[in-house]
Amino acid sequence: MRLDGKVCIITGAGSGIGRAAAELFAKEGAIVIACDVNETSYENPNIHFYKLDVTDRNRIAEVVKDVVEKFGKIDVLVNNAGITRDALIQNMTEEDWDKVINVNLKGVFNMTQAVVPYMLEAGKGSIINTSSVVGVYGNIGQTNYAATKAGVIGMTKTWAKEFARKGAQIRVNAVAPGFIKTPMTEKVPEKILTMMAEKAALKRLGEPIEVAYVYLFLASDESSYITGQVIGVDGGLIL
Ligand code: NAP
Repeated sequence: MRLDGKVCIITGAGSGIGRAAAELFAKEGAIVIACDVNETSYENPNIHFYKLDVTDRNRIAEVVKDVVEKFGKIDVLVNNAGITRDALIQNMTEEDWDKVINVNLKGVFNMTQAVVPYMLEAGKGSIINTSSVVGVYGNIGQTNYAATKAGVIGMTKTWAKEFARKGAQIRVNAVAPGFIKTPMTEKVPEKILTMMAEKAALKRLGEPIEVAYVYLFLASDESSYITGQVIGVDGGLIL
């Protein structure tokens, strides 16, 4: 199996892309640490749920310590948790700006800062950050979200250089999905989704599993010479 025995933390694993990834990783032999703000359960006994908010640094420290005590290591971190609070900049409240920055940007910083010491000690690991086409090309009504998803790309490239500095095989990559059918996009008006599907070369929206397969590749040793990259999973939306 492609992730045999690897200990993989996935944030935002209760729903959408994160949930598809948790189930796929477990099927591929991983011990999955599925973290989400909302209580949930999974059928596969190799998925261990932890209630965790990526903005809560104390809770993150507690969970990471517990995972290392129980499973001995952390091989993979998927920073997948994310939210939207859309509005044109003229109408965007400071609260909605702060909330999105805290979860999508600082949350990735919080998780990585807690996990990377264990990867550095082991001299290996894979970190996967979830960006978005919006972080590369912008989108009307998403000032806060676009800022975080562009920031995630900056952190990805910085960490790819920083964590490998002493020869550690720690790879850091970002995935930039287009429009994927999840509870997050249920909030997007149908008219926009139809337009985005039309604009994509493949003429449809994506499924969560289609992003999860790219996470799987980046988590596995099959991608051992890939680092600092941003991989688009958008059906050819941006060409
Ligand atoms: P989703 O279905 O809403 O799943 C995200 C999960 O993360 C939800 O369970 C959510 O809980 C949880 N979450 C929210 N805040 C959290 C926090 N502070 N700590 C831990 N978990 C938290 O969204 P998705 O579409 O699968 O998105 C997954 C990732 O892909 C996100 O980073 C998103 O920005 C990115 N992405 C998605 C698309 C798309 O088209 N769907 C496109 C590009 C990028 P709540 O439901 O309570 O918020």
